[in-house]
Amino acid sequence: MTPEELARSVARGERRALARAITLVESRRADHGAQGAALLDALARESGGRQAIRIGLSGTPGVGKSTFIESFGLMLTAQGLRVAVLAVDPSSARTGGSILGDKTRMERLSRDPKAFIRPSPSQTHLGGVARRTREAVALCEGAGFDVVLIETVGVGQSETVVAELSDVFLLLLAPAGGDELQGVKRGIMEVADLIVVNKADGDLKPAAQRTRADYAGALRLLRRRPQDPEGFPKAMTVSALEGGGIDTVWSEIGALVAWRRENGHWDRRRADQARHWFLEDVRQGLLAELDAPANRDLLEHMARDVAAGRVAPAAAAQELLTRLERASAPGAEL
Ligand code: GDP
Repeated sequence: MTPEELARSVARGERRALARAITLVESRRADHGAQGAALLDALARESGGRQAIRIGLSGTPGVGKSTFIESFGLMLTAQGLRVAVLAVDPSSARTGGSILGDKTRMERLSRDPKAFIRPSPSQTHLGGVARRTREAVALCEGAGFDVVLIETVGVGQSETVVAELSDVFLLLLAPAGGDELQGVKRGIMEVADLIVVNKADGDLKPAAQRTRADYAGALRLLRRRPQDPEGFPKAMTVSALEGGGIDTVWSEIGALVAWRRENGHWDRRRADQARHWFLEDVRQGLLAELDAPANRDLLEHMARDVAAGRVAPAAAAQELLTRLERASAPGAEL
């Protein structure tokens, strides 16, 4: 099957074609890279710029992400919407396995014909995971999903990556014990559109409400961002387990998206993201080139010269860059 044929099947919303397409873009084989790029390009034409609402969701393990996604996802599919769930799992980079891909998570949603769940690809570095996830998001959009949820564990850099991939970013928190804010990094508060305090049920309800109030207070202290209507970012409580407040999360997202669309922020953010990912791809491509066997040898050779004091670091770097440039010039021979 050619990339164009595969793109047509994906654009028709065929799930098996989508799964295959994602496997293709996740592959690290060089020939797959070219096919993946051709596929994405063909799909962009086939699907005529279809857009999903891309929702990023971050939270520490145990906060209730899978319970939330199951409950939220089932509510959306019950409304007739098609929902895709993708995961960015930085731990898989280390272990090679995927916690978020665990089959037992989101059991009901995974059986829903209107839902598509894809575990995180295992990669050696976050940059690789991010790029492949972004391409998987594009594939889901092209396949006509209305909502794409991108989930990540709240550790390290992954939240920033997911925020860069999404239209709306949700931070899921658990009720705090006392009346102190949890150790949420300021950076992540600044990219969140909704702070959702989960487990607002039973004995935990008062604590959840207190935590929400604390965050609402902290959010009021942040500088108003141009991409926000009055009242955003917002803090709220839900019970993913019992379903309380889940519909409100969706209506708040709807209000935010409508406002951003009307005020040009939606298109601007998408354009900025496209630009960011283009530059990032070029950067990654150059790094990959540096890592090619022939260049690696050259690099190693020159590094030895630098270490031995035969050439200054800056001069060696200049020379290497010039050589690479010459090698990649049109018509150049290595
Ligand atoms: P994840 O690691 O963030 O995906 O968290 P899970 O969805 O696996 O949930 C972790 C634990 O918290 C499980 O035992 C859930 O049953 C529980 N949990 C999740 N949501 C809620 C909720 O809304 N209320 C209560 N009481 N427990 C919840």
